[in-house]
Amino acid sequence: MVIAGNGEIEKQPFREMGLDLEDVEEVEEVATQVKGRHVETGHKTLLRSSALYKYILDTSVYPREAGELKELRQLTERHSWNMMATPPDEGQFLMLLLRLMNAKRTLEIGVYTGYSLLCTALALPPDGKVIALDISKEWYDIGAPVIQKAGVAHKIDFRDGPAMDSIEVLLQDDKNHDSFDFIFVDADKDNYLNYHKKLMKLVRVGGLIGYDNTLWNGALVAGADDPLPKYLHYYKPFILELNSFLAKDPRIQISQVPISDGVTLCRRLF
Ligand code: SAM
Ligand code: CA
Repeated sequence: MVIAGNGEIEKQPFREMGLDLEDVEEVEEVATQVKGRHVETGHKTLLRSSALYKYILDTSVYPREAGELKELRQLTERHSWNMMATPPDEGQFLMLLLRLMNAKRTLEIGVYTGYSLLCTALALPPDGKVIALDISKEWYDIGAPVIQKAGVAHKIDFRDGPAMDSIEVLLQDDKNHDSFDFIFVDADKDNYLNYHKKLMKLVRVGGLIGYDNTLWNGALVAGADDPLPKYLHYYKPFILELNSFLAKDPRIQISQVPISDGVTLCRRLF
């Protein structure tokens, strides 16, 4: 959440995300409700046992989390919109993927305070590059000092503004076509399918696009009468449409991985 000097909540970024004021208030309420859980065990996990999730974090994730990642995670936990951050188990998974692929050139859509971005920058080789797109430089600036401290800021090219505009700029230069090893999409869910159409031109053959939150907190299979927070309800048809499209797209090999809130990995075949 962006807090102005007078303590008022800055609503503009959310209007740009297609949320109206009522939505913002609802997300705030949800954020407040899950805040305790977030600090305890992380958030946005579909694993229905908090104890088991805590076990995963305590055993396999936290002991291996880089100091700066921990610092950024804890800094973000104090921010009211912390429910948006990539959880550390997913960050660890993304880092493994990037290393497996020897990824050198990546793109991230949706940065927030930069947890997945820092994971990426740490996993890239010293001459690797990640282009990072977000409409909120203010949020990026929250995590930027920690990224600087981690010694990986030189790998990051942050571009402020609507991601689609930045993607169009990238597409204008032929050198960017078929050039990205990995693209992580974690921004406006109602645009994922539009992004997919463009990103297929930017990712290289054999490269990977990861779409985040594709299980949408389980809302995809909620019954018609099940009460859903308005923002889950609003984005649900877009995620359903994306999932159906990806399942049929012959240009990609896919796996919908049920880590965190679901991340669909798409490997470009041709
Ligand atoms: N990957 C981030 C992390 O690890 O913490 C979380 C990203 S958060 C879920 C979504 C982000 O997308 C927000 O920071 C928001 O400002 C950004 N966003 C929303 N709509 C956007 C758009 N049209 N263009 C660029 N960024 C956008
Ligand atoms: Ca996400």
